[in-house]
Amino acid sequence: MEQFAADLATMVRTPLTEAHVAAMRRVGKEVTLQPGELIQEAGAPITMFPYLLEGELEAVDPRTNARYSTSSLGPGQFFGELNFLSGGNALMSGRAVVESRVLCVPREAMLRLMSEIPEMSDIVITVMAARRRRIMSTQEGGLTLIGGDVDRDVRRIASFASRNRIPYSELDLHSDEAAVVAERCGLQQGAPFVVFGADQVIDPPTPRAVARVLGQDISLHTEDVFDVIVVGGGPAGVAAGVYAGAEGLRALVLEDVAIGGQAGTSSRIENYMGFPTGIPGGDLVGRGEIQAMKFGTRFATPRRATGLRQCTDKLFHVMLEDGQEASARAIVAATGVQYRRLPWEGIERLEGAGVYYAATEVEARYCRDSEVAVIGGGNSAGQAAMFLARTARHVHVLVRGPGLAASMSDYLLSRLEAHPRITIHTRTQVVSLHGRDMLDSITIRDAHSGQDWTLRTNALFVMVGAAPNTTWLSGLVELDEQGFVKTGTSVSQPSGYATSCPGIFAVGDVRAGSVKRVASAVGEGSVVISDVWAHVNASS
Ligand SMILES: Cc1cc2nc3c(=O)[nH]c(=O)nc-3n(C[C@H](O)[C@H](O)[C@H](O)COP(=O)(O)OP(=O)(O)OC[C@H]3O[C@@H](n4cnc5c(N)ncnc54)[C@H](O)[C@@H]3O)c2cc1C
Repeated sequence: MEQFAADLATMVRTPLTEAHVAAMRRVGKEVTLQPGELIQEAGAPITMFPYLLEGELEAVDPRTNARYSTSSLGPGQFFGELNFLSGGNALMSGRAVVESRVLCVPREAMLRLMSEIPEMSDIVITVMAARRRRIMSTQEGGLTLIGGDVDRDVRRIASFASRNRIPYSELDLHSDEAAVVAERCGLQQGAPFVVFGADQVIDPPTPRAVARVLGQDISLHTEDVFDVIVVGGGPAGVAAGVYAGAEGLRALVLEDVAIGGQAGTSSRIENYMGFPTGIPGGDLVGRGEIQAMKFGTRFATPRRATGLRQCTDKLFHVMLEDGQEASARAIVAATGVQYRRLPWEGIERLEGAGVYYAATEVEARYCRDSEVAVIGGGNSAGQAAMFLARTARHVHVLVRGPGLAASMSDYLLSRLEAHPRITIHTRTQVVSLHGRDMLDSITIRDAHSGQDWTLRTNALFVMVGAAPNTTWLSGLVELDEQGFVKTGTSVSQPSGYATSCPGIFAVGDVRAGSVKRVASAVGEGSVVISDVWAHVNASS
């Protein structure tokens, strides 16, 4: 299966050429570091691209201040990984081992050079992405989550970090290592917490606070006008981000949860052209994010749009959950769909603590070797069941109807039926959930017999009732009866993606009549940018 980036251990590295170094010299400055001196501090903003001319640099673990085992850099190499592109803070420190000469290129100047010299950009981005892949797998990078085994808030951060490809390591609440970290941070032992580096406690432990520490929480101001704001960072929104950046538009992508959207929760997209062995949806869209950043598109995650208004100056103002606003000449709505919260008593308390709406590596870890229930008869439920069956003791697929043939792809249904650890229960319905802080069982009603039975389970995956995310559009555009955004001829617009309000466009799953697939979402997000471009040009 294809992945997010190349494997650093086996990849053949192409060094930057003399011409590239000469170009960097024109905008950079040479500095000499003494042994032990830092070129970059973990947690500090990344303001430059350090290229090593002579000497040796090492990457340093911000938890221990010791060198990562395989992290020596020699002349011709550079320090840094993907946070350089996103404009975030450094995940680890960089330090001189011996006296070293480093060419320091200011970040903005380096990004300009990369956009002017594509071969240089390819070399830098390939290495940075491979480094991110490695530090994800080795769990380096300074973010430590303690107590995800018992605490819902810490689990949320694990899910946020994992889905946004932020490296982290986890410690069980009552482990000896957790006690050591708690003592170092001056915290009570046995309470869950999140820490960056040696002792920077992230309080409150929310995805937003983590994003802030990593410098990914950009500050927005109404006077800072973008050409286009794309709301939603699923396949459609990220594709729009790539094309907007490539066409020279100043673009911002706002994403509430995680770049990747629904596709990011699929462990294997098998029908996207060009990936014959499949690709995890998060890796596919993550590649798009890097591509968009390369073209200058900015991303803000986790940021939720809560409202939209248009002023007399024709600008659109997107209201965010914290009261900040962001302004643009055009809006692309790419907010997709979301599973509905089912009306069980106590569900809010158990969301993230046994009730889940996505089946990714993180959730799979929390229900390893357990009985698991999946509600839903569509392809997403089928994929989730197959994925969870790799590690769960048994997966129970619960469907209301008499079968799955009408709602699930044939190939997937055959796999489910053939799997020894998956059982499909037709004509069943979950009637209640049980558990105080964590889910411990569910009651299921069997319509064949009219009997209720109890399944002891610590994980229930809800994958039914997908509804479009449109409340943030504040009634500015026409919706159909199900709440999907109407576009094109249905609202007398010549462009297929134009809504009833000029300047607001809609793409992907949120659009009425769209085909609910990754490929079509990517296609729509790519194509809409020519209409956005025409609108921005006409209005400025
Ligand atoms: C488990 C699963 C497996 C799937 N497998 C396949 C497959 O194999 N092949 C295939 O073709 N399709 C598959 N699909 C369908 C496919 O993933 C979707 O059609 C596609 O992701 C739609 O893309 P989108 O960008 O339009 O919307 P989404 O992917 O839904 O993305 C919308 C994004 O907008 C964000 N958002 C919502 N509201 C706001 C707000 N107010 N402010 C900011 N951000 C917001 C959401 O957090 C989300 O990230 C699968 C779906 C699921 C759930």
